[in-house]
Amino acid sequence: MRHIVTSPIVLGLVVIQPVSYETHMIMKISRVLQQTRSQYQNIEIVELTEYGRALVLDGLVQSTEVDEHIYHESLVHPAMTTHPEPKKVLIIGGGEGATLREVLKHSTVREAVMVDIDEKVVELSKQYLQELHKGSFYDPRGRVLIADGKEYVEKTQERYDVIILDLTDPYASEIAYELYTSQFYKKISNILTEDGIMVTQAGSSFYYENVYDKVLASVRDVFPIVREYNVWVPSFGYACNFIIGSKRHDPEKLTREEVDKRLKDRNVETRFYNGRTHIALMNLPIYRKARR
Ligand code: SAM
Repeated sequence: MRHIVTSPIVLGLVVIQPVSYETHMIMKISRVLQQTRSQYQNIEIVELTEYGRALVLDGLVQSTEVDEHIYHESLVHPAMTTHPEPKKVLIIGGGEGATLREVLKHSTVREAVMVDIDEKVVELSKQYLQELHKGSFYDPRGRVLIADGKEYVEKTQERYDVIILDLTDPYASEIAYELYTSQFYKKISNILTEDGIMVTQAGSSFYYENVYDKVLASVRDVFPIVREYNVWVPSFGYACNFIIGSKRHDPEKLTREEVDKRLKDRNVETRFYNGRTHIALMNLPIYRKARR
């Protein structure tokens, strides 16, 4: 017997987060720590009663203390674990430092370069989001550059084993839009090693199906192996999509035991992702609306 709790929602301070143009999430705030604007976006750092400390950009929750591990482990480890020995990793976006944190967990990593366009997001995250970055900004193997990811990719002479695109959503902000196109993925492919792997967060195939399909088609234009997966992120209000583009290694070919062995051999400790989760992620259907 489901126990239905009915209580009046006493609307104190809230984030009204658009999940789509027609659906919104109302999330209660207990404290506002920062509310400012950089040259690129509105930046808020708040304490949410249900989700803890959170980074909000242009009104969209990016990460929260209580569920960011689901997002960041699902973004980083399938691609990192599929590569047999990722030494050099590039992160584009990832301002709060949690993606950098997960990448640096792999003992194979010699260098992790994080390129974010917004210095204010990085500096405020360093100051207020210790729970998310856990000191990753200060790891000697890490290097944080403040630049437009598109320009960095066009100019760098470096080559990377894994490239992780942890950007604001393709339908949300002007500054990230061009980093979801086949022209950009071609440039990514050019700076990957011959067995390199790319992964991008891709928003929501359920609420923004057309945008998602364009991003998927763009990755397919460039990479021989393309794998989609999605994972429910409570504070986003939807199953977040990810797309892997790979030159040689196929994440679907990894067994549960191989994933667990690679995590163990590399001393990677996780809360959500493991061999069993990897198989589930690679096999869970992609969420899409029923045709009306
Ligand atoms: N986890 C979040 C999500 O999936 O909703 C995204 C992580 S992070 C907060 C997104 C980052 O992308 C922001 O820090 C933003 O500054 C950065 N970003 C957006 N456009 C960019 C660009 N062109 N080059 C580099 N970083 C960019």
